[in-house]
Amino acid sequence: MILEKLEIKKVDIPLEKPFKTALRIVETVNSVQVKITTKDGFCGYGAASPTVVITGDTIGSIESAIHELWIRIQGKSIEDWDELMRTVHTSIIGNTSAKAAVDIALHDLRAKKLQMPLYKLLGGARTSLRSDMTISLDTPEIMAADAEKAVENGFTALKIKLGNDAVMDLKRMKAINQAVGNQASFRLDANQGWSPKEAVRVVNLMLDAGIEIELVEQPVKADDFEGMKFVTDNLSIPILADESVFSYKDAIRLIQMRAADWINIKLMKTGGIEPAMRIISFAEAFGINCMIGCMMEGPIGISAAVHLGCGRSQIGLADLDVPSMYLNKLDVGFVSSQSTLKPNSNYGLGLDDSMDKSNGENIVQF
Ligand code: MG
Repeated sequence: MILEKLEIKKVDIPLEKPFKTALRIVETVNSVQVKITTKDGFCGYGAASPTVVITGDTIGSIESAIHELWIRIQGKSIEDWDELMRTVHTSIIGNTSAKAAVDIALHDLRAKKLQMPLYKLLGGARTSLRSDMTISLDTPEIMAADAEKAVENGFTALKIKLGNDAVMDLKRMKAINQAVGNQASFRLDANQGWSPKEAVRVVNLMLDAGIEIELVEQPVKADDFEGMKFVTDNLSIPILADESVFSYKDAIRLIQMRAADWINIKLMKTGGIEPAMRIISFAEAFGINCMIGCMMEGPIGISAAVHLGCGRSQIGLADLDVPSMYLNKLDVGFVSSQSTLKPNSNYGLGLDDSMDKSNGENIVQF
């Protein structure tokens, strides 16, 4: 399996309604899809989505970095796995989304070569995941109505976006709790929007109001590890690090400081499956739990996350609800029904040639 050709296709996936967090509003998912073809005719698919406010990656930077990586791996064999992974993950700094696209395509090829579904190659811990549903940041009334709809659609865990106004956040949580308090668990995601003291104060006010909270995600700024530790030390519920952890080095620092109880793993932050597996191993060794999450991604990126989530038992929670936000249903390497996601049993990521038929623009070939 010699890596011969790489093609990039840009695909836009419209959402049913805009997705809002403390950091941004998204109306369309932009996906940069990668297809690597080997000399003997196998195809591996990967994808990246730009999240400029979190990873710093844009469509243009992703395309350029993929080209840089391809120059270094073209002509190499999929059997020289260690060298391939080393090259992809160490030959350029940053650019985690581009690395993820190439890393995912190489994992797809490797699993096809070994004639296994990718989740089995990664460990085969389970055959399906149950995802929470995200409630976009909005007025208390709209968020409560969205929460009711999610519960009606079968979701039993809600990821609630907060963080742009602590006083309003308390009102939002009271409204949501009144609407669905006994029917769903609440995972609060402030997307870095609170100060450390504000986080402790507002979450304690919610707890005092009788609102049960499963966990609080990224309450403070990504680089404020001391702030994360302050919140972890001063709240009685688990704290989940998201934007604070990109690399395994971030994970080690956070774990050594005991600055969080959980780590949210997203392939666009880690740079793909190989670095994510390393973080999962460290977390396992130190008794830290992992969630598998995603950015606003297309079906290839979500497929990779579903396979990783099903591969490893250390991943205890999943936040992969993006497919349910697409305007048109787009399951590719997995089947989703309400809150359950199941990888299919085909080899690799389980994608078929529908990936080649999807509407895309500006196909670039290297
Ligand atoms: Mg988050």
